Amino acid sequence: MPFALLGLSPALADAARARGYVQPTAVQVAAIPAVLAGHDVLASAQTGSGKTAAFALPLLQRIEARTGRETPASHAPHAPRSARTPVQVLVLVPTRELAAQVGDTVQALAQHLTSKVKVIAVFGGVSINPQMMSLRGGADVVVATPGRLLDLVEHNALQLGSLATLVLDEADRLLDAGFADELARVIALLPAKRQNLLFSATFPSAVQALASALLVAPVRIDVPPVATEAPLIEQHAVEVDASRRTQLLRHMIQAGGWARVLVFVATQYTGNTVASKLRGLGLSARPFHGDLSQGARTHVLDDFKCGRLQVVVATDVAARGLDITDLPVVVNYDLPRSAVDHTHRIGRTGRAGASGLAVSFICADVAGSEAHFRLIEKRQGQRVPRERIAGFEPAAAAMPAAALGGVKGKRKSKKDKLREAAAAAAVDASG
Ligand code: AMP
Repeated sequence: MPFALLGLSPALADAARARGYVQPTAVQVAAIPAVLAGHDVLASAQTGSGKTAAFALPLLQRIEARTGRETPASHAPHAPRSARTPVQVLVLVPTRELAAQVGDTVQALAQHLTSKVKVIAVFGGVSINPQMMSLRGGADVVVATPGRLLDLVEHNALQLGSLATLVLDEADRLLDAGFADELARVIALLPAKRQNLLFSATFPSAVQALASALLVAPVRIDVPPVATEAPLIEQHAVEVDASRRTQLLRHMIQAGGWARVLVFVATQYTGNTVASKLRGLGLSARPFHGDLSQGARTHVLDDFKCGRLQVVVATDVAARGLDITDLPVVVNYDLPRSAVDHTHRIGRTGRAGASGLAVSFICADVAGSEAHFRLIEKRQGQRVPRERIAGFEPAAAAMPAAALGGVKGKRKSKKDKLREAAAAAAVDASG
């Protein structure tokens, strides 16, 4: 079905085409007409489903309709409006990266409109001053993390009194990230009469409560996580001794000819060491985690996206929302804490219909690793056959996990035991 049949203007249908979208995705087919009609929307949609364009395209059309009414017919295209523009659309997102990414997408789509639509992304971790400057004269669309938005409101840098639409993107993640209080404070600043769109990959009770408090007679959209147009992710589970994972990773990267690999690890420390060891083995690799400055994170992502960097070794900070087109392989060097995290990690590949490969290392010599992966499989309703790679077969595979105690045969520390218990609890809670 062409975009124009969903009620989009020719300019916005062109904008979608220019981004390379040939057909609308399932969430776009359902959301675009509902948003255009002014309804509230409650959508269950994963990243990778095309949800950004699903709200951005119709909201831009509504902005243009409003602006067009206010602008004299003779008004030159793209001429700046002089009065301070009140924010019309506020998109709240859980991470800085997602703010930048969603801001870029909305901005790129807005380029195709005849009236100038100002889109600003604001997030913490960087100086507030340039963001205050960019908000001078107002903005039509603001994409923000909640904390920084409140800081800007305190500085009187933006005006939310005329807001027409609030979008909560990745609502589950917003609540996970501890933004519940900030969210409530932002919502209290908004006009009571407005359109609300809530997108979430999962619906734990906190998200359901938020949805019922916020949405008025919403149109419900349920896009199955692995829909027909969605990713074909081939999963592999490879048994290996913990100490040989980096060597195996290097081997698989080279044997598979993987040009771009995102590797997930449990801690920032492991991220730094694995990236540094891979560099020592001749690969271009960098860590990516929350301890890096925003500038360093942006730099790593830019290098990764444009192919200057082959391997990024990331903590779960990178698991959500990142949109790296053409990311064929994701590796779980350390297993994720929960099945939900697993879905988000492997969802980094196979985006928008492309096929992808997800490899999980199961440490044959770490007690609980196999059992933990089995729980993840159970939650996913999918069984992934165990494999071994010639030359990297686990030495301790035959020994029962319980006999091994901990990593590399050491006795488990109290911390290890706590970590294992937390991981198991997280898997239990995530289903
Ligand atoms: P999102 O779910 O918004 O994070 O989008 C995931 C990816 O899908 C992005 O790379 C988009 O550029 C891409 N995308 C969005 N809509 C479409 C579409 N209709 N056809 C193909 N790709 C799309």
